[in-house]
Amino acid sequence: MSARRAELAAALAAVRRRVTDAAAAAGRAPDDVGLVVVTKFFPASDVRDLADLGVRDVGENRHQEAEAKAAECADLDLRWHFIGGLQSNKAAAVAAYADVVESLDRAKLVGPLARGRAARLDRGEAEGPLDCLVQVSLDAPGAEHRAGCPPDRLAELCERVADDEHLRLAGLMAVAPLGEEPAAAFDRLASCAARVRADHPGATTLSAGMSGDLEEAVAAGATHVRVGSAVLGARPRVQ
Ligand SMILES: *Cc1c(COP(=O)(O)O)cnc(C)c1O
Repeated sequence: MSARRAELAAALAAVRRRVTDAAAAAGRAPDDVGLVVVTKFFPASDVRDLADLGVRDVGENRHQEAEAKAAECADLDLRWHFIGGLQSNKAAAVAAYADVVESLDRAKLVGPLARGRAARLDRGEAEGPLDCLVQVSLDAPGAEHRAGCPPDRLAELCERVADDEHLRLAGLMAVAPLGEEPAAAFDRLASCAARVRADHPGATTLSAGMSGDLEEAVAAGATHVRVGSAVLGARPRVQ
């Protein structure tokens, strides 16, 4: 085993342990909480090592980097999660390789994502609709706008996604805002998720929690966490 693979194996084991401990603490089954390893800024060779170590779900946040890595790793049995800010003129291209789009935060993205999925279906490269998570903003109202749909517009956006035959509303995603206890923010997310599930019973996925706050997210009901630096190490460049 290469030194890098051994390092990844140890870090991955530690993160898996944190997730199962958090699930146990919340009275949840260990396999109730999935792990998406966020490989942004790290090379395809790391993705390969992670796949060998049993990782099935990987996350990327920049289109060009994600597209290149997905192509390099096309022989691996991986689900690619797109978790970054989406430009509407790139959304169709993202849908050409992404298996899950977690950062759908405005209605303008619905058309291009659906077209991208339809083209992929035509090429015989996928089956069924594209799994989408609507990204919710957990910022205080009036905070400088970061990514995400404001909670008061969530119902309308979810409806748009659910109505499109090429998209499947799988659930919600969020990032805890800076400068607030993540637990409080994730509690608001859990309320949003409950409201969405009342209208869309199939929207059961809740993507929340990163290296620094996965325990709080699991306590609030996250069904998968997105962990980067705790598995791969500090990112080579600042984002
Ligand atoms: C980078 C990123 C993560 C992972 O962050 P870490 O703190 O490195 O675990 C999770 N979610 C999103 C949306 C990200 O951009």
